[in-house]
Amino acid sequence: MIACGRCNRPLKDPKSVERGYGPDCWATIQAEATRTTNRNGAEKSDFTYRINTSQGKPVLVITDLDRGGMSVTNNIEAIVQSIVAEIGERVYTMPIVYRDSMGRYDGVNGDSLQRNPFYFLNKDNETDAVIAAIQRQEEQICGTSH
Ligand SMILES: [Zn+2]
Repeated sequence: MIACGRCNRPLKDPKSVERGYGPDCWATIQAEATRTTNRNGAEKSDFTYRINTSQGKPVLVITDLDRGGMSVTNNIEAIVQSIVAEIGERVYTMPIVYRDSMGRYDGVNGDSLQRNPFYFLNKDNETDAVIAAIQRQEEQICGTSH
């Protein structure tokens, strides 16, 4: 009798026996692998981040270090996920701005990373970008609650 490599219960289905895991455990393993891949993807980019609280609200500021890796623009989903893995889900409640390799600041839609990851700020310094991102979030919250 072959046992599942994850939960140790006996495997009956020939397909399960072949891969060494039952269907539920296999699905769990696949999901974990996907998460790990996404997190590792952030390593393709050279970036740094910090929380800017100078305007009284936390704003996540991501900076593209432009050292020849994948640009933050092209890898934003993996980067935000890696930051969430480090400092937690509160990332999704903050406005997010990023500085591209040209030194321009634009906004990141933390809640829409796949469909529509960026919004236009076009600021040339962090202070202006942070103020604009906070304003935008406040307008959105106001718009949906009234
Ligand atoms: Zn199992």
